[in-house]
Amino acid sequence: MDRLLIVFVDALGPQQWASSRALRAVAENSRALSGVPGFSSGAIATLLTGQPCARHGRLCLFSARSQGAPRSPLDALAWLRWVPPVIGERGVVRRRLARWLAEREGLTGYVALHRVRPEDFRWLDIPERDDVFESDSIGGWPTFLGDARARSLSVFAARWALAEDTRWEQAFSVLASKRPRLSMLYASELDAVLHQEGPSSRAAEAVLDRLAERVARARDILASDGAQVRTVLVGDHGMGAVRRVIDPSLISERGDLRAFVDSTIVRLWGSERALAAARLAADRARWPARWLSREKLGAWGVGVEGSPWGDAWLQINEGAIFAPSHVGGRVAGMHGYGPDAASSAACFASDAAIDESVVALSSVAGWVRGQTERWS
Ligand SMILES: [Zn+2]
Repeated sequence: MDRLLIVFVDALGPQQWASSRALRAVAENSRALSGVPGFSSGAIATLLTGQPCARHGRLCLFSARSQGAPRSPLDALAWLRWVPPVIGERGVVRRRLARWLAEREGLTGYVALHRVRPEDFRWLDIPERDDVFESDSIGGWPTFLGDARARSLSVFAARWALAEDTRWEQAFSVLASKRPRLSMLYASELDAVLHQEGPSSRAAEAVLDRLAERVARARDILASDGAQVRTVLVGDHGMGAVRRVIDPSLISERGDLRAFVDSTIVRLWGSERALAAARLAADRARWPARWLSREKLGAWGVGVEGSPWGDAWLQINEGAIFAPSHVGGRVAGMHGYGPDAASSAACFASDAAIDESVVALSSVAGWVRGQTERWS
């Protein structure tokens, strides 16, 4: 192999690969990789570093501020408390605010404010501040892209922040002019359409067809001088169908606890007594959800002692979501149900036989390093 083309596809699960004839034609071998808890920010960090969340420190978009943290970029939004919610919480306003915040604070990572209330910005933080593809390390752990750059290999990493079409056009043009040894492309539109329409839909089919075309074009560009190109597609998770919506306000609106509601997890911070009362309330309501023990979270690679991710986790079961939440409302598809849920598996697909060592999201980085080390 002379060149390695990796296409990272947000929400490419085994089901999505299997449903697309076009995608199977460009990468006929596939394996389901076991995923990670939380959302894409944790999964991408694990993919790039090979480390669990407890090490690289990424899991969800928002964490609690650590004790004595000097400041958070979110401090720049303190004034939002004086803006009426009917204006300040509108989607279009939130998207503009996120762009303004990123520019003002020099953030190149993924910044989204969703529906987080202004008063919560005082105790929340955003761990992802740098472009994960450009950074050579995440939370102090080297990425395979950083390792390849350190060994002076030619590396191209997609600019994630560009719009989908522009990002692909830019990638085609760089691939044609530089023909890098290692290319990491990024496709984001599948996740969006699966959230909106559910795991299997006509709209998703069209996105997968377009993706297959683009992957084939990238591969053909890299192979146009006769080089041997290996193509790999990898997702961060799949997508589950949403059939039930649970309003979490019974435990998330208690005055004696801090709460952050992602679509599938309620994370709580507070005294043992307040947490016990919240547990009792949720258990009485018989929600389709489970409280995650410290042991469980530890086994999932999430640090629990002094963790910024909450003192207690209520994880909803696959098939349901919490809404309203801090990140959105009702949708047709969702992920983030914990590594033991079917929708958490990520697809790894290739045009060559898949190495036995590749079994989890955390084993991809080691495999890529093994491939690229042969070149230097
Ligand atoms: Zn998503």
